[in-house]
Amino acid sequence: AKDAGRNGIQFYNKAMDARARTRLALEYEIRRGLENGEFEAFYQPRVDCLTGEIVGAEALARWRHPERGLLFPDSFIPVCEESGVIRELDRQILAQVASQLANWEAQGRLLQVSVNLSASQFGDPALPDVLQQILQASNCRAAAIELEITESLLLAHDQNTLDTLASLRTMGFAIAIDDFGTGYSNLAYLQNYPLNTLKIDRSFISGLPQSSAIPQLITSLCRILSLNMVAEGVETHAQLDWLRQQGCQQYQGYLCSRPVSLAHFNELLHYSP
Ligand code: C2E
Ligand code: CA
Ligand code: CA
Ligand code: CA
Repeated sequence: AKDAGRNGIQFYNKAMDARARTRLALEYEIRRGLENGEFEAFYQPRVDCLTGEIVGAEALARWRHPERGLLFPDSFIPVCEESGVIRELDRQILAQVASQLANWEAQGRLLQVSVNLSASQFGDPALPDVLQQILQASNCRAAAIELEITESLLLAHDQNTLDTLASLRTMGFAIAIDDFGTGYSNLAYLQNYPLNTLKIDRSFISGLPQSSAIPQLITSLCRILSLNMVAEGVETHAQLDWLRQQGCQQYQGYLCSRPVSLAHFNELLHYSP
């Protein structure tokens, strides 16, 4: 029994070892991919619930891997977060978005695009400067960019986070809370932070129109606090009808489109009302 136990542990260690090696290899590949410009912003339309017009988009990272094809965030974001490479990835996605926003504006198309910012960015006091450099290099207005952050960041009640958010707002960026409702329900932070938008998590939208208690609550909350409300993961007309009746302003979801390449998004824009 003792031997079996020892073998069990040895086996476990070997498996751990293999996992660590795979992870390290992936991290190396991601760094190389970032140097080669293999990461690309895809765009999921953000749509006006009433008019159906595309008013903007959310930028979502994709990896055009030279051998494995198009890869989705679940296969690289966790390793990016663990290794800290996420800062460089977020910076590259933001730079692509900023230069594209300037292009659209030059064509007379005013859009707002949101980008996902990892919580670890907020530990970096250089964040406002990094963002300022991106704006200057691209000639993009800060107000055309919305920064998506998660609830967990605000629940920490950290003075540095509050200061960073305040300076980002002063610079003109809009701030959105992503996946709203999935964190702990301490709503006090909604009053204490300078926010523009709540994005209701897809898990609450999927039950509509039957399970509507929480979406209804969040709609009222947004109205009372004068926050813009975006519903995520809208897939059916019944869901959209419900949201429209409740006064939700905007939605994203497969009902309009999956996240698509820039070229494809430009086509969608062309046909948008
Ligand atoms: P998220 O920010 O909550 O993004 C929404 C996810 O839901 C996207 O998955 C999107 O493709 C998916 N989605 C949108 N509409 C629908 C729908 O109608 N039905 C269903 N079933 N799904 C829908 P994606 O692109 O795989 O991204 C996953 C997560 O990876 C994102 O969740 C975000 O947290 C993270 N992520 C993506 N790009 C970046 C990035 O550039 N930086 C950082 N820090 N995180 C990113
Ligand atoms: Ca998001
Ligand atoms: Ca989300
Ligand atoms: Ca998410």
